[in-house]
Amino acid sequence: MEIYLDANATTPVLEEARLAALSVMAQAFGNPSSIHGAGLRARALLDEVRATARRVLQAPTGRLLFTSGATEGIQTAVLSAMVHLREQRRAGRQVPGCVLYGATEHKAVPEALAHWNALLGLELRLLPIPVGTHGRHDLAWLRAHAAQAALVCTMAANNETGVISDLDGIAAVLKGRDALWLVDGVQALGKLPLHLIERRIDYAPFSGHKLYAPKGVGLLYVREGAPFTPLLAGGGQEGAQRSGTENMAGIAALGAVLKALEGGQTFAPPQVLARWRELLAQALREAFPGVVFNAPFEVSLPTTLNLSVPGLAARTLLDLFDAAGLRASGGSACGSAKARPSDVLLAMGLPAWQTASAVRLSFGAADSPEVMAEACRRLKACGDALREACQTPEPAAAPLPAEGITRFVVDAACCYILADRAFRECVVVDPLPELTQQIAQWLRCRGCTVAAVLDTHGHGDHASSAEALRAAIADLLPPPEPLDALGWPLGAAELRFGAQRLTRLAVPGHTQDSTVYLLADAGGLRAALVGDTVMPGALGRSDFPVSAPLSYVASLQALEGAVGRHTLLLPGHDYDNRLATTLAIECAAQPLLEGALSGRLGAEAFAQAKAALERELAPTEFDTMACGARVGDCGMAERVEVRSADLHDWFQGAERLVLVDVREAYEQRLSPLARNWPGAAGAEVEAVPLSVLLSRLPDWQRLPADVRLVFCCRSGNRSAQAARALRRLGHRQAYSLAGGFALLPQADARVHPLKQPPPPAAGF
Ligand code: PLP
Repeated sequence: MEIYLDANATTPVLEEARLAALSVMAQAFGNPSSIHGAGLRARALLDEVRATARRVLQAPTGRLLFTSGATEGIQTAVLSAMVHLREQRRAGRQVPGCVLYGATEHKAVPEALAHWNALLGLELRLLPIPVGTHGRHDLAWLRAHAAQAALVCTMAANNETGVISDLDGIAAVLKGRDALWLVDGVQALGKLPLHLIERRIDYAPFSGHKLYAPKGVGLLYVREGAPFTPLLAGGGQEGAQRSGTENMAGIAALGAVLKALEGGQTFAPPQVLARWRELLAQALREAFPGVVFNAPFEVSLPTTLNLSVPGLAARTLLDLFDAAGLRASGGSACGSAKARPSDVLLAMGLPAWQTASAVRLSFGAADSPEVMAEACRRLKACGDALREACQTPEPAAAPLPAEGITRFVVDAACCYILADRAFRECVVVDPLPELTQQIAQWLRCRGCTVAAVLDTHGHGDHASSAEALRAAIADLLPPPEPLDALGWPLGAAELRFGAQRLTRLAVPGHTQDSTVYLLADAGGLRAALVGDTVMPGALGRSDFPVSAPLSYVASLQALEGAVGRHTLLLPGHDYDNRLATTLAIECAAQPLLEGALSGRLGAEAFAQAKAALERELAPTEFDTMACGARVGDCGMAERVEVRSADLHDWFQGAERLVLVDVREAYEQRLSPLARNWPGAAGAEVEAVPLSVLLSRLPDWQRLPADVRLVFCCRSGNRSAQAARALRRLGHRQAYSLAGGFALLPQADARVHPLKQPPPPAAGF
């Protein structure tokens, strides 16, 4: 059973609401504009729901329109206010030139403001109202700017943090002024009284799907006397205020929810919700010592917890929660490449780590104590799984073995731990500042010692944290000895750790000090850590003052001489999650590299062509400096997905098929593959988390051509990376389970039931 803790994004549909919608679709399907019996019954239903909404919202006067949701309500309100301003201006009246909106508003508000401001050619200044670290509007700022405001937009409660705005304070500032006032009531509906009339709020949009009604239905309240312009013109429905045949199923469902609110039986009262929040908070504190809550509970909706855990990225926490069957969301907009820090938390001025690792849990007032108790139990299980996988500061009871090569990535910069499993000896290459604690923990938890902490070059886009890491793991390092600037023991020809060996090769180009580390064991050369000298799809830029562009060709030729064309190259940056590459692959993709290695381009011509490529190199999507100009997509667009239904024949077939679960160890522990994919019972399975995939790539490259590897993970994202990497490296029978486990028919995919058992019949 999955536990849904993402109610601020949307809620399940209340049983009463579902039945009400079904009954409209089955029987009462009339058009409320028709004058026959079916139409009249629909009209009666429409009127009844509106009357209920007026009671629930305490809005006996003013307009109350059914809309498709809050985004439409916001557009209508903004359009109404701005058309009014335009009319005022045309009539020669002086109107203030600014619109003020809360810095933490839902995107729908600032985007609507910018859109209509541009379309109507008003050229109003749109100014965000700053918020404090508590997330509430800066009323002093508002007071100072209110005289210039034609329109003020302030949400009632924030969707990411749950912070409740001080609407009385804002009302007091706006009292006696002409500014129109829009209050986005989406997250407040059913949770907070808005006192629309008393506070003289002009516009308040609401959304059904945030309160147990289906998507596609909402409400817009407009104060009596406030300017109004319809957004939709047409058949004249809703008294010509919002044309378009009404969404009767949605309206009936919303009516059922509003009735349930009025009835007072279905939804838990605020004090109970606050108790549930405390239980969840306590479970989080136990599971993740050091957790911080990003908004003060005293001024937040009791149903929202926005939290960050030091040392854990939002992505890691979300994967972990998901594996435990807890559906939560990032406190930030998670793009495919990078979880962008939340604009809301940034506006609150929270430290970068907090904004980057924020996760939101939000439940609903129709949840039950049993579900909350189960959620707490699962949160604690998440903490246990992390501890067992060495992801928390406490050491493990039984140290885990270290994989040969473990990769860590921060904003596309890569750090590697090379380990000798038998001797528990490691080398860290290119440590990153964000990872110091995590790596120290990783090493201690596994009982490893560290032969060296190395950099491949002096980095341009981030400081080396080698010194900080050495300080954090001083007890795991060999006795102090003189090191060069990159951490290599002075005068040493090679560096041994266990049965592994590192040698180095100077490759000036990207920087004067660029160095490649060659990793070998008894079986010979295994991989080369090449820093930014050769990256997947790019060569390191050589336009820094510390670069040596004229040495680049000789360095690349020396690299080829040392490793050949087919050794695995582990780069310092991996902008497209390609994992690893070889000179053969890069030669085919990068004409410059091919030119250098074939001798077609001399040092001078190469440097010139490269400089042309690097001129005005834009920053990366991570807002970091690009360490090389990327060329070609290197097969990134190749489809590697296979649907589970199509795998049936493969399971039965004669060819060998291996399923590889690339989720991290803590996810696998919480949610074993067999539970996610009962249909795969009996298949040959390997557990190889993406972070250690590099250790296995060479073995898979050597597999007979007809062996199929199907990578799988939660959503199909990581598995596609693995499959693409292996295909590029030569094994073509590499696939990714399309959509991941999330799209498999599952025994436990049912969402937890809401508190109320199904009622006998809908009220409408
Ligand atoms: N305003 C807030 C505060 C919200 O949370 C949302 C939805 O996330 C919206 C507006 C947009 O609502 P809808 O999805 O109904 O258009």
